[in-house]
Amino acid sequence: MQRIAVIGAGIAGLGSAMALAAPDREILVIERDAAPPADLEATFESWDRKGVTQLRHSHVFLGRLFSLIRDRHPRLLQMLLASGVRELDFEVGLPAPLRGSYKKVPGDENLSILFSRRTTLEHVMRDYVRSLPGVKFISETLVRGLLIEHGEPLRVAGLVIERESGAREDLSTDIVVDASGRNTLCTDWLRENGCVIDEEESPAGILYFTRHYRLRDHQDEPPRDGTPGAGDLGYIKFGVFPADNRHFSITLAVPEIEFALRTSIVRPETFDAICAKIPGCARWTNPARAEPVTKVFAMGNLKNIWKRWVRDGEPEVLGFFAVGDAALRTNPLYGRGCSSAVMHAHILADVLAATSDPTARAMEFEKRTWRELHPFWEALRKQDLSAIRRAKNEQNPNYKPRLKARLIKSFADDAITPASRGDIKVFRALMPAFHMLEKPGRFLLRPGIMARVFWVWAQPKSRKAHLYPPKLGPDRGEMLRQLGLKGAPA
Ligand SMILES: Cc1cc2nc3c(=O)[nH]c(=O)nc-3n(C[C@H](O)[C@H](O)[C@H](O)COP(=O)(O)OP(=O)(O)OC[C@H]3O[C@@H](n4cnc5c(N)ncnc54)[C@H](O)[C@@H]3O)c2cc1C
Repeated sequence: MQRIAVIGAGIAGLGSAMALAAPDREILVIERDAAPPADLEATFESWDRKGVTQLRHSHVFLGRLFSLIRDRHPRLLQMLLASGVRELDFEVGLPAPLRGSYKKVPGDENLSILFSRRTTLEHVMRDYVRSLPGVKFISETLVRGLLIEHGEPLRVAGLVIERESGAREDLSTDIVVDASGRNTLCTDWLRENGCVIDEEESPAGILYFTRHYRLRDHQDEPPRDGTPGAGDLGYIKFGVFPADNRHFSITLAVPEIEFALRTSIVRPETFDAICAKIPGCARWTNPARAEPVTKVFAMGNLKNIWKRWVRDGEPEVLGFFAVGDAALRTNPLYGRGCSSAVMHAHILADVLAATSDPTARAMEFEKRTWRELHPFWEALRKQDLSAIRRAKNEQNPNYKPRLKARLIKSFADDAITPASRGDIKVFRALMPAFHMLEKPGRFLLRPGIMARVFWVWAQPKSRKAHLYPPKLGPDRGEMLRQLGLKGAPA
């Protein structure tokens, strides 16, 4: 029997256990927090999850995760759907002008989103993982260190764990998977032992604020009338996240430099007042339709991080693999983290199956992680830098964009947006990268897409007026004035 220890039972840890479980393996999932209560609502209301600060923030699960679960873990998909998790398929997500004329084509079946509270997804995933052969959870147990064999390179041979009673013990392993998330200590422990782990960091530039709601009895979700449920007002980004069992949440992401807004938005009355001024949120939070069920959760320290475990063509460590947020982090706004974490775990499983040589495993894991995940990370990093610039410009009433910036904005607003809202081929071409099913930036290269987008760009605005989305919400000055906040232009 091969023994694999997985540190953390978050999404990457559960994904790793799912991907690695096999009759000839013992998989020990070591988790600092207690197991969830048996009931889904109790899990949402009271599961104490100190190890996952983002547990009660809005989560959405993209097509990559959906299709991976459907294809490799069909029983899990059944369990999720039976627990109230919902599949929003490609057709339901079509922009209003495209509804009615839709014909399904192969590939559309992968472009589904799973709507669920994170607590529900994690709870059901955990039940599924518990039923797999050889998997054992060791809960309320903290990993305190790595057992390291010194050599060139280092080899991780096990873990030091601390039980709830405070008792410490050594656990020898064949492989350690670090799925301990954004605050992993493994990187530090390895560095203290001489590993050189390069790390690239780039700001996300926003703070996250989330509130959960429940539909009132006899009320339904608002009809999909074309009012966007997500958008970017420049000084605030908003998103409605439908979820399971009549729940939904709203996230408002505020640029770090919007000081007055970010300090007042945690007050429930301010949060709801902002929602009431954004039509895409207001139709959900209308008090006749839904009631808030939580406070406003806030989260900062959001960054893009990428770590490298191979240097100058040599692995820095053997027998150790970091997956999910422990290895790379992206801005949560794009909803990529969970897809990325579970993909990463499956890359690891493929690599371990392909070779038993420890050096080859380390090299191949690094190579495939780079090839399959880095393009998304890099695209999001650049997107964040441009959003940070935009937020700064929003605060400057005298800002006049240069020609290049005006062209880029016009291409986004007057070409891509109306083209994707009025031409199913353009919309369909955009979706695979959004869902992490295709590398970013390729959609314009698909046959005929560039010509279709340019054709729409060339049309006068009056001819494509019906293809623009409705106004997303008030501009910055208006919003701050209405909320009585500092920073509003006189
Ligand atoms: C505000 C916010 C919103 C997000 N929204 C989305 C979204 O909409 N869609 C999406 O796909 N992603 C989203 N993400 C990203 C997603 O939450 C993460 O990418 C994902 O949780 C990563 O999984 P993980 O297992 O690596 O880390 P986590 O899920 O954080 O799990 C880490 C686990 O390790 C445990 N642990 C840590 N240290 C130890 C230790 N020493 N010993 C034992 N156990 C330990 C923790 O208790 C925890 O259970 C969001 C992130 C944030 C911050």
